[in-house]
Amino acid sequence: MIIVMEKGATARQVKAVKERIRALGYRPHVIRGETRQVIGAVGDERGKAKLQDLQSLPGVDSVVPILKPYKLASREIKAEKSIVEVGKDVRFGGHKVVVIAGPCSVESEEQIIETAYAVKEAGASMLRGGAFKPRTSPYSFQGMAEEGLKLLAKARKRTGLPIVTEVLNPKDLPLVKKYADMIQVGARNIQNFSLLRLLGKAGHPVLLKRGMATTIDEFLFSAEYILSEGNDDVVLCERGLRTFETATRNTLDLSAVPVLRQKTHLPVIVDPSHAAGLWSYVPALSYAAVAAGADGIMVEVHPHPESAESDGPQSLKPDVFAAMMEKLRAFARVADRDL
Ligand code: PEP
Ligand code: MN
Repeated sequence: MIIVMEKGATARQVKAVKERIRALGYRPHVIRGETRQVIGAVGDERGKAKLQDLQSLPGVDSVVPILKPYKLASREIKAEKSIVEVGKDVRFGGHKVVVIAGPCSVESEEQIIETAYAVKEAGASMLRGGAFKPRTSPYSFQGMAEEGLKLLAKARKRTGLPIVTEVLNPKDLPLVKKYADMIQVGARNIQNFSLLRLLGKAGHPVLLKRGMATTIDEFLFSAEYILSEGNDDVVLCERGLRTFETATRNTLDLSAVPVLRQKTHLPVIVDPSHAAGLWSYVPALSYAAVAAGADGIMVEVHPHPESAESDGPQSLKPDVFAAMMEKLRAFARVADRDL
């Protein structure tokens, strides 16, 4: 249910409504709109009728059901786009298209520092790099774990770029939280509901990657798990689906961008690297993502892709990345955005 407050509702009235929602066994989520506040009451749907009584509380304008099955992620509860801030300077969902770049995996100090400087120089505003890697084969490189997180922190210290890195296992969350500015949930964990719930309480912004076989509704339900635990800072990332096509690693579902835009207030970014599987397809898909209205892109960049421990074939060399960024600027302008 959405409890719509009157325009001039006082803080005390809002507090009283929140208390009543809790007393009825629901969790209140205050959402500040441009003109008035609304309070989402989420929880077990069976006692919905009782929430109607909130109508009589002072300061309440109306009580309306949220028709969409995902409540807090929907545009019904919040018409305007959400802004998710990371570090001091990065804002997903604002005027600027956010570019996250970096290697698939952190491999060495030299590799991550060199990449961080290069992507910063080219205009990226965040650094990526995996320290815990979800690999198809248990015999493939699994990441440097805490050592990798420390190297990411070092790269942040040197360049000032905030870092996003993946948490694979709920037990590693406290460790990843210590180092990361933003925590990535990989495609393979999209329906790891206990991990999603933990991230809802973690107090860090989350980059939620769509699974390779996840519908848009399922994707939004996964976001809802995080939001419903009290974390509003969720950025959605389309990264390609598994289809019958084998010419690319995955099929980039760019239609997800405008569809999500209509369904949710959350920022949406695109990862063309894992969709393409090959570096030479990445620039075109990046331009297309920005043209489709994405709030950002996440691109794999490696100084020596030929010797990368993971995803070398899809990684851009720094000079190719820099050239792509130049052209991306023009696409951003046409889309009424900035880089
Ligand atoms: C990654 O970003 O390195 C990654 C493993 O991506 P995905 O979860 O989308 O496969
Ligand atoms: Mn990768």
